Amino acid sequence: MSIQSINPANGKVIKKYKEDSEQNVTRKIEQTHKAWLKWREKSFAERATLLKNLAANLKQRKDELAVLMANEMGKPLKDGVAEIEKCASVCEYYANNGTQFLADEVVETDASKSYVSFQPFGVVLAIMPWNFPFWQVFRFLAPGLMAGNCGLLKHASNVPGCALIIEDLVKTSGFPDNVFQTLMIGSKEVNKVIAHPLVKAVTLTGSTEAGIKVAQQAGTLLKKTVLELGGSDPYIVLEDADLEEAAQACVNSRLINNGQSCVAAKRFILVKGIEKEFIRLFKEKMMQKKVGDPFEAGTDLGPMARADLRDELHQQVLSNIKAGAKCILGGNIPPFKGTHAYYEPTILTGIKKGMPAYEEEIFGPVALIISARDTEHAISIANDTVFGLGAAVFTKNNSAGEEIARTKLQAGCCFVNSLVKSDPRLPFGGVNQSGYGRELSIYGIHEFVNIKTVYVK
Ligand code: NDP
Repeated sequence: MSIQSINPANGKVIKKYKEDSEQNVTRKIEQTHKAWLKWREKSFAERATLLKNLAANLKQRKDELAVLMANEMGKPLKDGVAEIEKCASVCEYYANNGTQFLADEVVETDASKSYVSFQPFGVVLAIMPWNFPFWQVFRFLAPGLMAGNCGLLKHASNVPGCALIIEDLVKTSGFPDNVFQTLMIGSKEVNKVIAHPLVKAVTLTGSTEAGIKVAQQAGTLLKKTVLELGGSDPYIVLEDADLEEAAQACVNSRLINNGQSCVAAKRFILVKGIEKEFIRLFKEKMMQKKVGDPFEAGTDLGPMARADLRDELHQQVLSNIKAGAKCILGGNIPPFKGTHAYYEPTILTGIKKGMPAYEEEIFGPVALIISARDTEHAISIANDTVFGLGAAVFTKNNSAGEEIARTKLQAGCCFVNSLVKSDPRLPFGGVNQSGYGRELSIYGIHEFVNIKTVYVK
């Protein structure tokens, strides 16, 4: 069996990779566990030095890594370079702050000495998606290694080149052998890996369906999981919003990574009064984005990551039009050459409860416009979802916006007058079917540690 990477701009096979046999997988698990027995003894200072080497290595190789992403999943080069720089920043962040995040916390009790100590779990399995093939991995890898864990990566089957080069980056940055290894396996093999006694926990970023399956398997074995799943982030535009700025942020967020981001803006909830003008500005800005070859400098949107995902998206658009939505931009597969995965930036207006897009996640460059009577109605539509990853509200009244973000919107990351984005310094994650647990910040590094009580009488 082989895993292959296919260029989504033209459908051509780039390379085939041999899948790991069952014995190979078991050997890698054992090797990584063995590496962990030594890695956990390393001082914070040693781990931090290696993470800084890794950051430098990433920065040095950023152009080569961006080319790999452009080839395997269609990300425009400039976005690929930015992604690698962000990976370097998360390595530096945990190198600089990890020691403090993991320091013993003394608690006064009746003991002569009592404190909390953060001890690594061991080998953690990371199941990762193709949309940010480096960033999704590094936001687990950097805190994971800093905390003294070791990692096994089961990357998405369409980005095997990225998976292997991440292993190589760790190795060539001076980390001991096998602290981070890639398993070249398909998703059907994952349950056996989770079941291995030396695998202590699992983190998954991907669809809600995949999250449920992995959580089921891990749950029967009582292994901890962190799940970062889908979202259908609502962006509310209130009557007093700066429409020009709001429209730009909304377009940027909807089209980030060609619309294939868990925290992309997906539902635009417009309060009566600004609807017409907002849609005019929004459409104008959507039309300014250039779809094309990810290797060309001016390209904003490359192809989607896979032709099957583009086809699914197109079907979603058609079924919503059939259900009464109005397509005011795009809605077509553009006439590029070859078996490509391109899709036009698209706007559907008149989305209402009962239409498929009101409920489903739309993972591509398609914006959904929903009308609201007033602020309260907009908030209730925003929360009328099974998801709860990010949300944003646009208003000139910062304190009213803050109150909506803090107490009214049911999501893990709520932003005012800004698009939702991840930042190593802030926790990232969702509620409801968007998953549980947190990545990044101090909260992320504490997910895969034994928060141990030590009590000395
Ligand atoms: P998946 O969720 O299927 O894939 C993500 C990762 O999970 C991949 O490594 C995949 O492996 C693995 N996986 C899938 N099913 C299982 C399983 N049953 N057990 C163990 N591992 C599994 O994403 P798709 O590529 O199919 O994309 C489909 C949809 O998922 C998108 O349209 C979007 O809605 C959502 N998605 C969300 C992302 C996010 O950032 N939250 C990222 C990517 C997708 P393999 O590739 O081998 O199947």
